[in-house]
Amino acid sequence: MRTAPRAEPRALTVDEALARILERFTPLPAEEQPILDALGQVLDEDVRAANDVPPFANSAMDGYAVRAAELAITPVLLPIAMEIPAGSAATTPLQPGSVARIMTGAPLPAGADAVVRVEDTDGGERVVEIRKAVAGGENVRAAGEDLRKGELVLQRGLVVRAAEVGVLATAGRASVHVVRRPRVAVLSTGDEVVEVHEALEPGKIRDANRWSLAAAVRAAGGIAVPLGIARDTADDLRRALRRAAEEDVIVTSGGVSVGDYDFVKTVVGELGAMDFWTIAMRPGKPVAFGEVLDKPIFGLPGNPVSALLTFELFARPALLKLQGRTRLRRPRVTARLTEDVPKPPHLRFFARAIYDSANGTVRSTGPQGSGILRSMALANALIDLPIGPSLAKAGSEVTVILTDAPEDR
Ligand code: AMP
Ligand code: MG
Repeated sequence: MRTAPRAEPRALTVDEALARILERFTPLPAEEQPILDALGQVLDEDVRAANDVPPFANSAMDGYAVRAAELAITPVLLPIAMEIPAGSAATTPLQPGSVARIMTGAPLPAGADAVVRVEDTDGGERVVEIRKAVAGGENVRAAGEDLRKGELVLQRGLVVRAAEVGVLATAGRASVHVVRRPRVAVLSTGDEVVEVHEALEPGKIRDANRWSLAAAVRAAGGIAVPLGIARDTADDLRRALRRAAEEDVIVTSGGVSVGDYDFVKTVVGELGAMDFWTIAMRPGKPVAFGEVLDKPIFGLPGNPVSALLTFELFARPALLKLQGRTRLRRPRVTARLTEDVPKPPHLRFFARAIYDSANGTVRSTGPQGSGILRSMALANALIDLPIGPSLAKAGSEVTVILTDAPEDR
């Protein structure tokens, strides 16, 4: 990885930055997971059924198993030769001229070829009056109608959802190979930053970013490893980053701008390499990407909105790619803006917003300062405004990123 010159930070566009980041990530190796824990992970094997599903022909209804040909004239009275609840199986074939009381899911006895619903009979227990004829195969679920033994039922690359967990279970699989989840170290920096439970002495603020970013890691399918707060010294950062590099990916916040105490870039350069420093966007202009002891690091800005927003735009797609996902982009729609939104002309601007799908409109969440985390908490979307104009006008059509919706491509 190339080390950028220290003095003149080169600004990248958002798309350039994302492309360079994604280049650096390939899916992690597979792990074996119990099927429930595999929820949300990507299959790393083709799954075949161990047996037919259902394994035997069975009744789709509570009723009477019959030979359909014997019901040519209805109503007809027939003796009940046996009763077959779900979970048991008839040991003898059904004799001609008789029927079996049968429950939903119970195997059809040999000789029977259809089921009459209890509603189409008098519900008799020794003899039953059947009032309606059935065709052969009616109300019967054939063996293997869902899955055939040996059939490919789930393909490598699929994301495991609830339905896939069920299919795995019916296919006889208690565990499955899926792409491993990344472990992500999350580190805050700053002499002013204190723990949530600590008293707020003068000049101190509570650590918001470690928790919001750890939550965002989890929401992206990763395993968050919150690691504490590094002081604004090269020594403490070095120590913290060495520990962080034990995980698959490192996410830090703060200390990446041009202040006297912004040591992240320096220490990353020393323990690895810095790839770039600034992105032509707001919020989140100073974003560092590089590696520390061969592990990718996202050096996100300290402002709580900038940290979370740059995570969403750059780190989340990378974590998804690590997990073998191929859909890395949130859905985008066009919506009509209901208010003027000012923006810096030379930067791409992401306004935190409320999208109203019923009306196809969008408005900002109010004050958009990088420190106003409420602007993000109220949002279900981002308005994505291009470099160039200094204002998006009320009534104009704008691009909206639906940040609450799963990635669709
Ligand atoms: P920095 O990039 O370190 O100069 O930080 C920019 C701003 O974000 C400053 O106002 C910091 O106090 C604030 N900040 C940095 N880290 C955190 C954090 N973990 N939680 C909340 N605010 C933070
Ligand atoms: Mg700082």
